Amino acid sequence: MEKTLVILKPCTVERGLIGEIINRFEKRGLILVGAKMVWLTDEILSEHYAHLSEKPFFQRVKDAMRVCPVIVCCWAGVDAVNVVRTMTGVTNGRQAQPGTIRGDYSVSMQENIIHASDAVETAAVELQRFFKADEIFDYTPTLLSNLYAKDEYSGI
Ligand code: ADP
Repeated sequence: MEKTLVILKPCTVERGLIGEIINRFEKRGLILVGAKMVWLTDEILSEHYAHLSEKPFFQRVKDAMRVCPVIVCCWAGVDAVNVVRTMTGVTNGRQAQPGTIRGDYSVSMQENIIHASDAVETAAVELQRFFKADEIFDYTPTLLSNLYAKDEYSGI
């Protein structure tokens, strides 16, 4: 089953929204297969946000991710990357559709609640960046048949 990375950003931790955001993914039917609290370093953030390295706000965005520890999560599901990204909404919280996570909890371009992997290939790289292999748990929830028809999945 596909896996994707979600980081609950410092704004989410400090605003006491950890449970609420995790609850949204659980309610949707995504399966939590990895989770931990980490205080990110400038080094790992430089790698993670390398695509922004030429932007004037690069350092500011990295610093905002180190205000306090974050929660990194791995969610599994059929088409998990796309399902999570759609739930996340566009980058700018002010433009994100109500009903999306950013559209419901954010009014900022930077303080936009979560990071979510944007493609299957990116998710694989990002999961390796933030998790050791033994921190991801490939268990099969007993309720899987309530989430999917049998021909929709081939095991977790
Ligand atoms: P996304 O998180 O939606 O995939 P990007 O990868 O483009 O978006 O940017 C990574 C993060 O950098 C964003 O989530 C946001 O926190 C921050 N960011 C992006 N663009 C800006 C900007 N113009 N001003 C401030 N912060 C920004």
